[in-house]
Amino acid sequence: MKVLVIGGGGREHAIVWALLKSPQVTEVLCAPGNGGISALARCIPCDPGNLQELVNIVAIEQPALTVIGPELPLSIGIVDELTKRGHRVFGPTQGAAQLETSKAFAKEFMQRHAIPTAEYGICTTLAQVREELPSFAVPIVVKASGLAAGKGVVICETHLQAEAAAAEMFSGSLLGTTEEAVVLEEFLTGEELSFFALCDGTHAIEIASAQDHKRIGEGDTGPNTGGMGAYSTDGIATPAMRSWLLHNVAQKVVDGMRSEGEPFKGILFCGIMMSPRGPMVLEFNTRFGDPETEAILLRLETDILDLFNASIDATANQLTINMRPGASVCIVAASGGYPGKYASGKPISGLPDNLIRDARDKAKEEDIVIFHSGTAIKDGKIVTAGGRVLAISAAAPDLQTALDKAYSELAKISFEGMQFRRDIGHRALR
Ligand code: ATP
Repeated sequence: MKVLVIGGGGREHAIVWALLKSPQVTEVLCAPGNGGISALARCIPCDPGNLQELVNIVAIEQPALTVIGPELPLSIGIVDELTKRGHRVFGPTQGAAQLETSKAFAKEFMQRHAIPTAEYGICTTLAQVREELPSFAVPIVVKASGLAAGKGVVICETHLQAEAAAAEMFSGSLLGTTEEAVVLEEFLTGEELSFFALCDGTHAIEIASAQDHKRIGEGDTGPNTGGMGAYSTDGIATPAMRSWLLHNVAQKVVDGMRSEGEPFKGILFCGIMMSPRGPMVLEFNTRFGDPETEAILLRLETDILDLFNASIDATANQLTINMRPGASVCIVAASGGYPGKYASGKPISGLPDNLIRDARDKAKEEDIVIFHSGTAIKDGKIVTAGGRVLAISAAAPDLQTALDKAYSELAKISFEGMQFRRDIGHRALR
């Protein structure tokens, strides 16, 4: 069976890698893919934000299944377009993806369906922001409603700062595009948890939980990034908490979307804050998270194709998802200057030659994998081609061993300006 994966980051590398372990998969294509993915899959250059280009690729290649990795193609309706044309595709429709693409929609949806979340106000003008601000204590969280690649959240110490942040979002000076709505949100404290569920329009079933490390600096300091590392362990949340999140968040989302005529199929990522008032939803993503996926898929024992099929065929309630016991981690190696300006095209040394080994044989017992987030091949050599460059993942019976494995692999790798956090998993170890 031929499968096409849309996207070109570490998450898609991990999905391609997992697909190649399936005995049902004969060929994997990736559009656009990247330097690392090209060792496992035939890569097809494309702009993942160009609907027509993506539709054309599927029409030409005729994959038996198309899997959508990132949010951008979901936001422009790739699932609706492909489904309309009779193709089999994994992921939510444009309407269902609003849970991620519009924070205003997500907040109002949560209110309609009594899903716990921080107090909020939705503003479409600066005058409205000024009016609403006094009802919020500081610090206050200001969020761009639309997609912002992790850069649309500003935590403000004063109301004046909050007003300035909202003004920058409306004017486009913060994100490059003007924002139609800004969400003001109560500041919550607590540990964060990413809870992943597989949804089929009617049922939600648990995949796993993980913890991301969003800040660039050790000890969770400095600006937010797309994610500098993640870990997933058996004990990251108690069975009672996982069951609570499944029933009171994920299943409620599926029930709510169904009742509103937008059934949700795909991966539901629930970003949770374990606040003193109980678990609260910070955000939804409607696809696999990056870098959590690079850690989680190392633990997935069930054939990933079975997950995709169960979601599409509405049989998730009949599927048991088995995760390898223990822990897995992912450490991101990023370009110097990221998340600000950075240079690309830097040669990467120390990569093992596993890129060119047969993925299918190797993946069976592999417990250390270097996924490529932003790399390209230039003159036959792997070079940097993004802010986040590599995601070094490892699995082991316990977290410390998994971390030791990943960091010792990372120690062999270098490129000019390389930066990474040495404290991934620190909260769990503490
Ligand atoms: P992502 O890149 O994960 O998609 P995003 O831009 O969609 O991020 P959120 O996940 O809503 O934004 O917020 C990013 C981070 O900001 C959260 O992981 C959390 O650390 C912090 N944050 C968001 N909302 C709040 C809140 N209400 N209180 C405290 N911190 C918050």
